[in-house]
Amino acid sequence: MKSQIRLATVFGVELGLHYSWLIIALLITFSLAAQFHATNAAWGEGVIWTSAIVTGVLFFAGLFAHELSHALVAKARGVPIHKITLFLLGGMAQIEGEPSNPSTEFWMGIVGPITSGVLGLLLLGVARAFGWQGSGAPATPGLAILVWLGYINLLLGAFNMIPGFPLDGGRVLRAILWWITGSARRSTLIAARTGQVVAVLFIGYGVFRFFAGSGIGALWTAFIGWFLLQAAGATYLQSQLGTLLAGQRVRDLMSTDSPFVSPDTPLDQFVHDLLRTGRRCFFVGSADRLLGLITPQDVRAIESEKWTQMRVSDAMRPVNRIHFVSPDMPALEALETMAREDVNQLPVTIDGRVAGVVTRAHILQSLQLRSEMAKYDAHGSAA
Ligand SMILES: [Zn+2]
Repeated sequence: MKSQIRLATVFGVELGLHYSWLIIALLITFSLAAQFHATNAAWGEGVIWTSAIVTGVLFFAGLFAHELSHALVAKARGVPIHKITLFLLGGMAQIEGEPSNPSTEFWMGIVGPITSGVLGLLLLGVARAFGWQGSGAPATPGLAILVWLGYINLLLGAFNMIPGFPLDGGRVLRAILWWITGSARRSTLIAARTGQVVAVLFIGYGVFRFFAGSGIGALWTAFIGWFLLQAAGATYLQSQLGTLLAGQRVRDLMSTDSPFVSPDTPLDQFVHDLLRTGRRCFFVGSADRLLGLITPQDVRAIESEKWTQMRVSDAMRPVNRIHFVSPDMPALEALETMAREDVNQLPVTIDGRVAGVVTRAHILQSLQLRSEMAKYDAHGSAA
């Protein structure tokens, strides 16, 4: 989730937008302007475009209220969270660490749709109070904005209650299954599978409607289904990864014999050593005075003609830009951190001293071994 625009920090939670929302914002504004042209042509260009833009901006405010409600419940229940990124189709609260019990999961999930639903009803109520008849096109720009936002927030709440992971309804379903079965992992697998089924239904329905002549709107349904399918599949995979890596910590997988290199080493000589040793991660400096980290990725970022004039210290990632981890970090979390930071290794420190490094390759090797053993186990118990 790197491609995001930072907006603001509220109650210690960083709010951001995924770039895909810029496209959505344009689509919303243009389609609203078209709708206002059709229903209230007498308003004139200026009023129509101002109304469309104001509605688009307020729509985002509603999405933030929805996401913030997830974040506040997570905070109140002690689940660490520091970032919300609005993603395609609503938001995605980035919650670090899983909720520790089904009731936290339940409230964290359901509060979003409740927030959107209440917001929707409130907006429609205000529109009624200011003279909207409850049906037909609203007469003034103010009422039109209120009514559109009211319906869209109701729709957002309802859509998110569809019981498939990763939608909020999927979270709620998972919480209920977790409460019944007592197994967090099994309920995640079931909720993710349900999400995949829902997604396939969406795709099927969208394609069917399209060929029945419903036009582009039907393709949107199929597209939403496709997006859900991807997300549910990712959740399923992650849950399986979690099962395979259960109990594994960074200390079990890290290598402790990481080589050190002097910051003054000429870069071309370093490349020579790199090829000779076949290692992928070098610390720069010493264990007591670490200056940085250098990997093939960092060297590749520099044109090879310049290698003779540069030193390791010019190409390294300086120590203040390195994400260090503790040997107690669960292996799955290390894997997720590498994906998020777009790196292939994480240096491990104990009491501020470099203790080793854990790489994607280490974790994937362990995964492969464990999945082979799991198959063997399954055969063994079946026999
Ligand atoms: Zn939500």
